[in-house]
Amino acid sequence: MANEITPQRLIVQKYGGATLATPEKIKQVARRIHLLHKTGTQVVVVVSAMGQTTNQLIELARNVSPNPHLRELDMLLTVGERISMSLLSMALNDLGSQAISFTGSQAGILTNDSHVNASIIDVKAFRVEQALKENKIVILAGFQGVSPVTKEITTLGRGGSDTSAVAMAAFLKADRCEILKDVDAVYSADPKIVNTAKSIQELHYDHLLEMTKWGAKVLHHKSVEMAQLKNVRLYVGSAEDEKSNGTLISDSPKMGSNRILAVNSYGTVIHFSNQNKETPPLTDFYALLTKNQIGAPEILYCTNEQFYISGPKENLDLIENFNFSHSKFTLIEKTLCSISVTCASSPTEDIIQLIQDKLDAENIIPIQKILSNKNVNYIFQQKDKAAVVQLLHTLI
Ligand code: ASP
Ligand code: MG
Repeated sequence: MANEITPQRLIVQKYGGATLATPEKIKQVARRIHLLHKTGTQVVVVVSAMGQTTNQLIELARNVSPNPHLRELDMLLTVGERISMSLLSMALNDLGSQAISFTGSQAGILTNDSHVNASIIDVKAFRVEQALKENKIVILAGFQGVSPVTKEITTLGRGGSDTSAVAMAAFLKADRCEILKDVDAVYSADPKIVNTAKSIQELHYDHLLEMTKWGAKVLHHKSVEMAQLKNVRLYVGSAEDEKSNGTLISDSPKMGSNRILAVNSYGTVIHFSNQNKETPPLTDFYALLTKNQIGAPEILYCTNEQFYISGPKENLDLIENFNFSHSKFTLIEKTLCSISVTCASSPTEDIIQLIQDKLDAENIIPIQKILSNKNVNYIFQQKDKAAVVQLLHTLI
């Protein structure tokens, strides 16, 4: 029909730190974005910090202050993404595209007031909308926002740029949100541990939620939660090879016949007990950490009596070295790991038995078994991690 107007496509792309690690890589990414924009697509790009920048900034902070004030740490860490966004915008402008970069606060990413591991509570990206109307390519610093209550700059936890991208895609009602990386898809295990790990073509949000909750680093867990909640179509693929097949994540994936999809792990898990068994421990545990300038870890499993935590190494290091003797928490063991088997449907008795048989055959006894929506999760001694991941991956 002649006068039917096709709505313009809008894509949010997120580029990981490894894909922006050098000036040459930044220029390469700029070329890809420039060509996409020339096809008539509106493009919003969310960037991570270049290469190892965030680790180096954390190290720098620790060299000045062993336990830095978290507000100041956030001020420092947000610099990493500002470097990437401005350089990428320069490269795009050199190619003849009109681009503009914004920090998280300029882009209206509003968070709660927790430092180092804040959550996005709202998006008011009016400047982004305006720039898109002006046919600009918008480049956003990922991993950061601002608390409307404290007016402070916050960061979203390690890997948090994925969540910035999904939040922006939801606000702008983008056609899809592409998470572009140096790996080309979601894999059935970490290829560094299992060299026969397979790439997965399609997944349901529920699967990826469970995988990222239990250690898969391919995406920030909160980004998957938000994508599901706001119905954002997610794609995980290669930044370099546009033609390679990545992973599509939606609520109606085409799945193969495999009953077991993936095996993931956390290399460090710490076990605590709670002396005050009448009250759930987490509120007080978080309060104790915040008071001592320690960022919140991931809680894997919690009852009134005990809980298991994991998360970024820098948080766990501080927790391991903290003196809990004046609190109601006792650190029981810190050399644990978790290993999780993600199933196509909720784990049934026969699948659990299948896994158990594998472990029995090798005489491996888990410390704890925890069932969740799509996962059978185990706690083991750290030293057993690689062997158990490899063993259980043979079930795929
Ligand atoms: N640069 C931050 C990090 O390394 C955030 C991100 O990459 O998403 O954790
Ligand atoms: Mg990074």
